[in-house]
Amino acid sequence: MSDIPREERAPYFACVACGLIGEPDSADYTLTADREHVDWTQPMTVGCGFCRTRTQITSTDLLARDTEHACSRCGTRTACPAAADRVVCWGCGLNEPGAASVGDRATYRQDVERGADQWATAGVRVAKQDARARGALPGWAS
Ligand SMILES: [Zn+2]
Ligand SMILES: [Zn+2]
Repeated sequence: MSDIPREERAPYFACVACGLIGEPDSADYTLTADREHVDWTQPMTVGCGFCRTRTQITSTDLLARDTEHACSRCGTRTACPAAADRVVCWGCGLNEPGAASVGDRATYRQDVERGADQWATAGVRVAKQDARARGALPGWAS
């Protein structure tokens, strides 16, 4: 799997739910027959890196990496869309806000990310309550 070029297995796309632009936080895709590329005749199922919404994208949803982001930690220049709200460094993996994420747009991104985190926290809390109700909550989780 790791032989697949990162540009192919982590394409930039605009989330249909929140509208923000970044790499997916998860991706399920079909491989070409030689198993070295993503088969774009099939849709890719992606999870939004901002709001966690899972959607399907096709080759027409891919955004061109028309600029470069210079990492503030290691200086590596990562190709990305100019409109990216987040960029993951190809050198050290640092996940930083993109050049487009300024002003109101940065505030919106922070709100979306905070909302996704709170949703995840709330989901864990409900899961614990359910487990407690069943008498099945492990000691380490209480
Ligand atoms: Zn989203
Ligand atoms: Zn870096």
